[in-house]
Amino acid sequence: MLKIAVIGAGVSGLSVASLLAKAGYNITVFEKSDAISEIGAGVQISPNGFCVLKEMGVSERALKKSICNNSIAICDYQKGKRLLQFEQRSALGNKNFRLMHRADLIDILLEAAESNKVSIKLGCSADASLLSDQYSIVIAADGVHSKTRNFLNPSQRKNSDVGYFAWRAIVPNTINHHDGVRVTVAPNKHVVSYPIRDRKKLNLVLIQECKNEGVFEWSLEESPDQVRRIFSDFGGDLGEAFCEIKKVNRWGLSSHNIPTNWGKDNIVLIGDALHPMLPFLAQGANFALEDAFVLAKLIDLYTMEEVTDKYVQIRKPRLLRLMKQIKKNAWNFHLKRGFFRACAHRGLVLLDKTLPQSAERPFRWLYSHDITKLNI
Ligand SMILES: Cc1cc2nc3c(=O)[nH]c(=O)nc-3n(C[C@H](O)[C@H](O)[C@H](O)COP(=O)(O)OP(=O)(O)OC[C@H]3O[C@@H](n4cnc5c(N)ncnc54)[C@H](O)[C@@H]3O)c2cc1C
Repeated sequence: MLKIAVIGAGVSGLSVASLLAKAGYNITVFEKSDAISEIGAGVQISPNGFCVLKEMGVSERALKKSICNNSIAICDYQKGKRLLQFEQRSALGNKNFRLMHRADLIDILLEAAESNKVSIKLGCSADASLLSDQYSIVIAADGVHSKTRNFLNPSQRKNSDVGYFAWRAIVPNTINHHDGVRVTVAPNKHVVSYPIRDRKKLNLVLIQECKNEGVFEWSLEESPDQVRRIFSDFGGDLGEAFCEIKKVNRWGLSSHNIPTNWGKDNIVLIGDALHPMLPFLAQGANFALEDAFVLAKLIDLYTMEEVTDKYVQIRKPRLLRLMKQIKKNAWNFHLKRGFFRACAHRGLVLLDKTLPQSAERPFRWLYSHDITKLNI
């Protein structure tokens, strides 16, 4: 039986560990933190990620712990006026687009890993090159600041797309938010909001463009008053939601050019370790789930020499398309004040009155893709 090491117990590490253990492999996960815990924040699991949860046998639990994302609303920041709202449900048929707490997702993945007899070693900071002598395969799921990615790609260490900060908070849902995602756009800023946990809580992600040359730490605590000051020009009911913020964390966002080397010898990258991305399409965890499915299947079917080549072949075109769409969203969300912004918003309002459903079409390739049906 192959002995496989996984570095990191986030979404990608726990998922690939579970899938491989279910297929009969001997899996050890190394996690540097002393406990598997999640910072308070929500996560959107779109149908392309959800089908992997189904494959893992945890979809019932995920459904119970989440809310259906019925529609997406795009609003202007000044008075919170709706520009466009389009349904998700009918366009995606019976596929599941869910909104949930990240801690609930991690709990579900952890329970699946444990029930598949994955051995999890907490408080163990691991080094891929050392583990590669002791294990047949090392899967590096060590996140956005992956040391393994740097080790495999020493000339591509630099982050790109670094000019953003994000704040994440969970507040009581006092504004009776609709069952879906609202994106409220402003020049240089936007806020994403959606309900979680039986609609009792509201997840807030607040993003601002600003110079950031060195702060890429995740989860720095921030003062709620400072956040309210930065977003004080947001009108409508969001202002009310901001008043509820008691605890908020700041994240220095970065993405990375897709690395040249996805693996070397018996080491291979997955999730944010492979492709850190800006959260402008909420796909990091979903792509981590997709990666996990593909990698587990490839490891089960092919020799390690073949695995990396096939992994790149299958995943890279989809990843490149996603990165392009994320860049477009980054630009569209933060349009500066002026003629162009006014025209774009008039266009959205017109679409809302005429053909709102057509707004979901550009994303159908992304959400409707069922990786578990792929002939690998
Ligand atoms: C503001 C914001 C909003 C987001 N919203 C969404 C969303 O709605 N939907 C979505 O799909 N994605 C979203 N994402 C992205 C998503 O959170 C990530 O893409 C996803 O969590 C990546 O999972 P991962 O397992 O690859 O990495 P991580 O979750 O970062 O896990 C990496 C793990 O590796 C461990 N580790 C690191 N180094 C070592 C080592 N040497 N030894 C042992 N352990 C190690 C870490 O402690 C950590 O537990 C968002 C991101 C941000 C910043």
